[in-house]
Amino acid sequence: MIPEEVKKKIDRLTDEINYHNYRYYMLDNPVISDFEFDKLVKELQSLEKKYPRFVREDSPSRRVGGAVSEKFGQVKHGAPMLSLENGYSREEVIEFDKKIKRFLGLKEGEKIEYECELKFDGLAIELVYKNGIFTQGSTRGDGITGEDVTANLKTINTIPLKLQKPVPYIEIRGEVLMTKKSFRELNAERLKEGLALFANPRNAASGSIRQLDPSITARRNLIMYAYGVGKLTDAGDVKTQHELMEMLKSLGINVNKEIKTVKDIEGAVKFFEDEEKNRESLPVEIDGVVIKVNDLKLQERLGEISKSPRWAIAYKFFPKQEVTSIEDIEVSVGRTGILTPVAHLKPARIGGVIVKRATLHNQDEIDKKGVNIGDSVLVERSGDVIPEVVKVMSKGPHKNPFRLPSKCPCCGSEVVIDGAFHRCMNELSCPCQIKGELVHFASKRAMDIEGLGEKIVERLVDLGLIKNIADIYYLKKGDLRDLEGFGEKSEENLFKSIEKSKNISYDRFIYALGIRHVGEFVASLLARYFGDIEGIERADIGDLTSKFGIGEEIAKSIFNFFKLNSNAEVIKRLFRAGVSPYKTQAKAGGAALGGESFIFTGSLENFTRDEAETIVKEKGGTVEKTVKKSLGYVVAGKDPGSKYEKAKKMGLKIIDEDEFKKIINYKSS
Ligand SMILES: [Zn+2]
Repeated sequence: MIPEEVKKKIDRLTDEINYHNYRYYMLDNPVISDFEFDKLVKELQSLEKKYPRFVREDSPSRRVGGAVSEKFGQVKHGAPMLSLENGYSREEVIEFDKKIKRFLGLKEGEKIEYECELKFDGLAIELVYKNGIFTQGSTRGDGITGEDVTANLKTINTIPLKLQKPVPYIEIRGEVLMTKKSFRELNAERLKEGLALFANPRNAASGSIRQLDPSITARRNLIMYAYGVGKLTDAGDVKTQHELMEMLKSLGINVNKEIKTVKDIEGAVKFFEDEEKNRESLPVEIDGVVIKVNDLKLQERLGEISKSPRWAIAYKFFPKQEVTSIEDIEVSVGRTGILTPVAHLKPARIGGVIVKRATLHNQDEIDKKGVNIGDSVLVERSGDVIPEVVKVMSKGPHKNPFRLPSKCPCCGSEVVIDGAFHRCMNELSCPCQIKGELVHFASKRAMDIEGLGEKIVERLVDLGLIKNIADIYYLKKGDLRDLEGFGEKSEENLFKSIEKSKNISYDRFIYALGIRHVGEFVASLLARYFGDIEGIERADIGDLTSKFGIGEEIAKSIFNFFKLNSNAEVIKRLFRAGVSPYKTQAKAGGAALGGESFIFTGSLENFTRDEAETIVKEKGGTVEKTVKKSLGYVVAGKDPGSKYEKAKKMGLKIIDEDEFKKIINYKSS
C-alpha cells in the first residue's frame, strides 16, 4: 500500500471504531458484534504498528495505556474549578434560595428555576477537547492547577476520545467514579492478595486515576459523569444548565440520567428527599444532590464568592461516617476456618442506621490502622457494605494494635497464616467448622436428614457426641434422650431419617461432603462420569479439567479433598456404617444448547457462578463476559448488576434462575 492509502485506511478505521465505541458505551446500542469490533481493532493496531507516524491522537489504541509516566505534569485549568458551598438541612437550602433572590433583587414570592443533579462521590476531573479530539485530562488539584492524568483518563470507556462534533475548544468537567460492585470486587481481590484495602469507592477511584501505570487504571472499571463546562469557544444558543447538559450529551459525553429541572426551591428539596430514599439502590455512591440556578444568564450575574459559585449548592446527606469507640474485638471462625476480627462498637447512628459492629478484615488491616480495644475510631458505612473502621482518632489504653490469637478461639488448635488470613487448619474437628459442615451435610438438598437442624447440631457438637459427619451414623439409642426438648419420640424420628439417608444417590452424597466449590451441579457431573468415589479419587487435576470441563479452582479443590487421608477415613467410616450411595443414571449430555450464548449477573441460589458457567459449556453453549445484541440469554440472579440494566435497555432476553434450570434441564433431586 502506498502511504496515502495507509493513512486513509487508518483514518477510516479510527473513525469507525470510535463510532462503535460510542454506540456501545454511550447509546448501549451496538450495531456490530464484539467479534467484528475486535477485528477492526486488530486491523488498526497492525497498521499503526507499521506506520506509527499516522497514529491519530484519538486512536482507540491509546486507551490501552502503554506508556508509564514518571510523574504527573501540572495542568493549569482554563477557568478555576470551584468547589461548592455545602448545606445539610432544608433550612440552609431555603436560605440559599433567599440569598439569591436578595442578590438579584427579586421579591420573596418570585420563583427561581433550578436544575438538580446527583452529587457523585468520586474524583473531580477536567477534560480538554480541541477540534473534537480529547487532548488533555487533569485532576481538580487545588482548583487552579491539577495533575495531568491524560493517559489514565484515556483508559476509561465512558470518556470519548473524539466528540460527535468537532467543537473547536471545550473544557468538560466531570466526576470519575467506581461502582459499588467494582469496589467490592477490587477489595475482595486485594484482601486475597494481602494488599491494603480501599476505604471507599471514592478513594479507590482516586487511587486508580493517580496510578503511574495506565494499564492498572484500565483494569479498574471506572466511569465518568460530566456535570459542567469550563472554558469553551461557542455555546451556541444554550441558555440553561439543562440545555448545557443536553448539548454535552449530543457531543457524546456521558451525563447521568437522574437530572431534573424544577420550578422552585421546594421542587429541589423534593428531589433531594427522593434521591435520599433511592440512594442505596444506585450502582454508585452519591453523597447528596447539587442544586444549580438553571438560567445561565442569572448564573453569570450571580458570579462567585470566595471560590464558590453563588448560583449552586451541594445539599448533602447526613454523613455516613461517625466517630465512636471499640468496646471489644471478637474473633469468629467460619466454616472454612478463617479467623475474622469484628469490632464491637459503642452503638452509633451512621447515615440513619444504628451501627454496633464493624469488620476489621484481617491482621494486616488491623496493623495498618493500629486498632485495638478502647480506641476511638472513625466508622464508615457505605451502601450494603458491612460497616468498616476507617481509622483511629485517638488511642485508648493499648499502645499496640490488636493481635489475632495464635490458637483457634473455637478449638484451641494452632492457627496457621494462610496468605492474608489466619486459618484454623483443624478442618475435621474444629467445632466452629464442623457445625457448618454438619448442617450442610444434613440439609434437604444433601443427605436430607430431617430433624438434624442447626440447633440440634450445635448441642450434639457441644456435648462431644459428634465430631464429624460420619459420627451421625454412630449415634446410639438413648444418646439424644437427655438433650433439652428431645423426647423418645423425636429421637426415634431422627434415627428413622438418619437410616433413610443411607440410601441416597451419588450426586447428593458427593454434594453433601461439602467439598469447597462443589455445588449440586458439579457433584452430579462427578457422579455421572465417575460412577463412584473410587473413580474420583483416582482422577487428577488434568482429568477433571480437560475431560469434564470443570474449572481449575474447582478441580484443585476436589483433588485436594480426596488426597487428604483424614477425609478418606471419614468416607470409609460412612460406608462402614451402611451409607451406600447408588449410581446415577448417565444422562444424554452433549450439545443440547447448540451454541446458545449466556451471560450471568447477580447471585444464583442453586449454583455458584463457576458451576453455572460449567453447565453451559458442558452442554455446548458459550458464556459471554459483556452484554451485546447477539446474546441468547441473560440469566439474572439475586441483586443483578449493571449488566442487567444494560440488557434491559437493549431489550435482550432476560431469564431468572428457574427458567435457566428449565433450559439446561436440571433436576434438583
Ligand atoms: Zn478451630
